[in-house]
Amino acid sequence: MEPRGTKRGAGKTEVVEPRNKVSHPAPSLPTDPALYSGPFPFYRRPSQLGCFSLDAQRQYHGDARALRYYSPPPTNGQGPNFDLRDGYPNRYQPRDEEVRESLDHLLRWLLEHRGQLEGGPGWLAGAVVTWRGHLTKLLTTPYERQDGWQLAASRFQGTLYLSEVETLAARAQRLTRPPLLQELMYMGYKFEQYMCADKPGGSPDPSGEVNTNVAFCSVLRSRLGNHPLLFAGEVDCTDPQAPSPQPPTCYVELKTSKEMHSPGQWRSFYRHKLLKWWAQSFLPGVPNVVAGFRTPEGFVCSLKTFPTMQMFEHVRNDRDGWNPSVCMNFCAAFLSFAQNTVVQDDPRLVHLFSWEPGGPVTVSVHRDAPHAFLPTWYVEAMTQDLPSPPKTPSPTD
Ligand code: GDP
Ligand code: MG
Repeated sequence: MEPRGTKRGAGKTEVVEPRNKVSHPAPSLPTDPALYSGPFPFYRRPSQLGCFSLDAQRQYHGDARALRYYSPPPTNGQGPNFDLRDGYPNRYQPRDEEVRESLDHLLRWLLEHRGQLEGGPGWLAGAVVTWRGHLTKLLTTPYERQDGWQLAASRFQGTLYLSEVETLAARAQRLTRPPLLQELMYMGYKFEQYMCADKPGGSPDPSGEVNTNVAFCSVLRSRLGNHPLLFAGEVDCTDPQAPSPQPPTCYVELKTSKEMHSPGQWRSFYRHKLLKWWAQSFLPGVPNVVAGFRTPEGFVCSLKTFPTMQMFEHVRNDRDGWNPSVCMNFCAAFLSFAQNTVVQDDPRLVHLFSWEPGGPVTVSVHRDAPHAFLPTWYVEAMTQDLPSPPKTPSPTD
């Protein structure tokens, strides 16, 4: 790359404007779907690098203790009859959403496994590290008309870390969440309890509590275009009877949705909900989403499996549908934009990428609190022992 503000080889007396005299509009990234409708980009088949669990007290464990096992009800003629409101609010222990965890649990996993990462020396330095949920938001951005987002970015030892910042609007909505919406959130977790057992071959126990502190997270490696990715995502359960027992292909994502009765309701479901379901499960390579359709009274009376790789078929011929290529091309463009914007390697420096529907992604720059998100314990541990070649005894030792 040529140094900026200079031009060589084009004539020896050419005068070049100093960079600070030329007007530079603040860089931004447009999000219109039409700009991203090229061919589907390269996306490496996601492979699982490891996993971790969070317990009922939200404590980290470097194992699969929180993994649950897919255990759908027997299909003996009639469908299920799950009361999703059972246990609310008496047997509900919701996670404290005021606690900002940022990337902390993922960073702990990374710190403990950085010595055994595949991909060769320097792989991590070229990678993007984030939560799956943040990438999901990027994938759906070209089609999102309601919720904006903010992503904080820091470069440290080459790696680009991306961590979501709750927008003011999202915070206001969370703090004024209507009681009916709170119950609806519970119902989604309750469905998981009806569909999962604690042991392979076991039976679900809907009499227990629903504690949303508990989570099983898969840590995955992939690559989008030329962007190596390391991300973690919460996984609902594994299917002991999956055709292949290898994660992530044995994983199942569980969802609930309103029962539908008219073709118009299905069309709207395909256009909006299936986009979010596809983006969330395609990223980690989770092959199936099992939906429980609930009545207005909150009973799941039917189940339907949506293979992730077939979701697009429902909107392929819909002018107002979504296109996976647009989602992935936009995500790749955002990652390039972020990689080119965050040049300085400094864990205390934050580039905040902000987006509101109808506009482009914009950038602002911050230092330290409140936006810096790489914890001191992580930065210090990573700084103290940089990966070094094996030590050979020297005469002075
Ligand atoms: P998802 O794809 O949106 O479900 O999010 P991920 O699978 O990437 O999860 C990332 C981490 O955030 C995990 O530790 C989850 O337990 C946690 N998490 C999931 N949903 C939420 C949420 O709505 N709010 C907050 N604060 N954390 C969440
Ligand atoms: Mg789920």
